[in-house]
Amino acid sequence: MIPDVAGRLCASGVEVVVQEGAGVLAHFPDAAYTEKGATLRPGAGEALSGAALVAKVQAPTPGEIDLLPEAVTVVSFLQPGAQLDTVRALVARKATAFSLDLVPRISRAQSMDALSSQATVSGYLSALAAAERLPKFFPMFMTAAGTVPPAKVLVLGAGVAGLQAIATARRLGAQVRAFDVRAAAKEEVQSLGATFVELELESQEGSGGYARVQSEEFLARQRELISNEVAVSDVVITTAAVPGRQAPVLVTTPMVERMVEGSVIVDMAADSGGNCELSEPGKDIEHHGVVVCGLSNPPSAMPTHASFLYSRNVANFLALIVVDGELRPDFDDEIVVGSCVVRAGEIVHAPTAELLSGAADPAGAPKEPAS
Ligand code: NAD
Repeated sequence: MIPDVAGRLCASGVEVVVQEGAGVLAHFPDAAYTEKGATLRPGAGEALSGAALVAKVQAPTPGEIDLLPEAVTVVSFLQPGAQLDTVRALVARKATAFSLDLVPRISRAQSMDALSSQATVSGYLSALAAAERLPKFFPMFMTAAGTVPPAKVLVLGAGVAGLQAIATARRLGAQVRAFDVRAAAKEEVQSLGATFVELELESQEGSGGYARVQSEEFLARQRELISNEVAVSDVVITTAAVPGRQAPVLVTTPMVERMVEGSVIVDMAADSGGNCELSEPGKDIEHHGVVVCGLSNPPSAMPTHASFLYSRNVANFLALIVVDGELRPDFDDEIVVGSCVVRAGEIVHAPTAELLSGAADPAGAPKEPAS
């Protein structure tokens, strides 16, 4: 929560408590919060005790939930399918929990779409990470010593992050090609001045603007068809994801071995299993002279603006559930109901309930992002 947004909440009649040092790594000092009317408390225990509502980035840990009063409301990136212990602890606390990654993707909810705002940061950073590691220029240069050709960048996955990676690589002067399994992505790729790679594959459009789960046969065919594109690229940036699932493997070790020495792969999906078989989250590894950079939690590498955007997403969401300083969620609102995982201790998000009852496969489900 950045100080300006904390100030706006204070002005709306909400009492805001901030854990000391919460903003320091994002360059928001404690004093900036008190100047805006917020109260500082020294540790997590003191900051959380007595809270009616807790807003966080990551889901609270079961240990933090123990510190919360009964019937508390939590707003965070809960990712309930991957955080079943947290969900159990919230149920035990009779809490109400909203997950920003479940906010339905409708126009009215765009200002609360934290997945998109953080993907924008990640996409931008992935292009910069590639440019930094490539031992070549991104732009074309015509110099007295000779002409330097532009770098060839291939972006796999052209959602919010991929489009931002394309835009950033284009701004740096690279020649950009991109592929996505959703046919709708083609026009967006082209509108950024990049070339859409046409593969003979059927579109994998799912619901809510997301890709659907692809079969292993489909992915094998995709790898085969994209292999030559990968081999001739200086840079491959991968951003492909299917909500709630392991990231699909798009670049295998033999594909990396066909790339020219000095080439770079930036894998934005490293935290969810990786689009490249070789990537490790938070690490650069070198294989056959190719650097494979597994980005881990990229928004944390640009904390000031990541926090700026996330705070606004949170504040816009709070405007739906806090009325005149009182917590009053309107459960007839599709955004409120769609993002609610636990309501007064009861699991109301069907895929999570299924997982907890053991009816679904925890490695795969949930299949759909929203209820
Ligand atoms: P995401 O992070 O879940 O996935 C990233 C991209 O990977 C997606 O474009 C997906 O199609 C692609 N992908 C999945 N499997 C792939 C594969 N095997 N090969 C290549 N690409 C693959 O998605 P996202 O970026 O959060 O959102 C996707 C789209 O949703 C956006 O581009 C946008 O059109 C839409 N959207 C709509 C709203 C809204 O209407 N409010 C908000 C945000 C996004």
